[in-house]
Amino acid sequence: MSVAPAAQLARLDALPLDGGDFDAAVGAAGFPAGLTPGGLEIFQINIGRLCNMSCRHCHVDAGPHRTVENMDRATIDACLAALDRTEAHTVDITGGAPELNPHFRYLVDQCVARGKHVIDRCNLTVLLLPKHEDLPGWLAERGVEVVCSLPHHRKLNTDAQRGDGTFDRSIEALRRLNAAGYGQGDPRRVLTLMHNPAGAFLPGSQASMEREWKAGLARNHGVTFDRLIALNNMPISRYLEWLEASGNTQAYLEKLVGAFNPGAVGGLMCRNTLSVAWDGTLYDCDFNQMLELPSAVAAPNVRDLDLTALASRRVVTGRHCFGCTAGAGSSCGGATSKEA
Ligand code: SF4
Ligand code: SF4
Repeated sequence: MSVAPAAQLARLDALPLDGGDFDAAVGAAGFPAGLTPGGLEIFQINIGRLCNMSCRHCHVDAGPHRTVENMDRATIDACLAALDRTEAHTVDITGGAPELNPHFRYLVDQCVARGKHVIDRCNLTVLLLPKHEDLPGWLAERGVEVVCSLPHHRKLNTDAQRGDGTFDRSIEALRRLNAAGYGQGDPRRVLTLMHNPAGAFLPGSQASMEREWKAGLARNHGVTFDRLIALNNMPISRYLEWLEASGNTQAYLEKLVGAFNPGAVGGLMCRNTLSVAWDGTLYDCDFNQMLELPSAVAAPNVRDLDLTALASRRVVTGRHCFGCTAGAGSSCGGATSKEA
């Protein structure tokens, strides 16, 4: 279990950082009233912290031990009722390993029936568990986009972050997704890979990494994918623990602040996404969810969705937000701008 969210925030706030006031930086970037939402496009539902893995960088602090924090059927139905009141075109299902929630397939089917674009954020290895071996075909039939986290296209870097044997299992899962039609340019079988660096540095250029990964994975393993998104590691939860243990916290935050990219602010995911937690609480993003910073509305719960209040709220920010605005910017959809 990570350090308590309030202590994580206090630790970041206590660092001596020139230019370390996020709201001031955002103000200078053209948002003098702070971060405000645009139209709601993506309804992101975090259906639990249960995961078959326990990765070093995990910002969700997920793992096999997180059996309590899983969305129940009543809350999933409340999400669907709320979704019906919004204009969101995409439902982004995340976790933990969302496939481990017993209501995952029900949720996907309900969203597909509503004509939504559905994203499954998948850790790949979950597809090898006996109970879930049919998932590639099942997801393909429904046109679900699969966004898979893979730290690197090389075994050494991936296993260092996710544990020995993870890379080989991930490649096997990618083969199964390819066999189901994913990763070959079909817009109804989109396979996206998600990379985050295995250290205290920012990812390289998303476009050139995509070319390198496509070539490397095809040449060495015979697997294909459609696009790569590169994420900055957020200085929270288990990754913050690692920064602390390795003595990198100050330097990493300086790096994030120094790489602030004003051009990344407009595309921040908190501006077009609403994030719902396993218990129905509403957040501006998945990171704020992990830091227990709910959206700034009177009743931040999916059961009490007040679209007017949400549209006029100010996004809750903190120093962790510099993780989203560094370099090319970073969001669940990848870079939010051209590289600074
Ligand atoms: S990073 Fe993803 S795969 Fe790893 S423990 Fe967290 S949720 Fe599970
Ligand atoms: S951490 Fe969340 S609130 Fe902060 S900038 Fe990133 S997406 Fe927005």
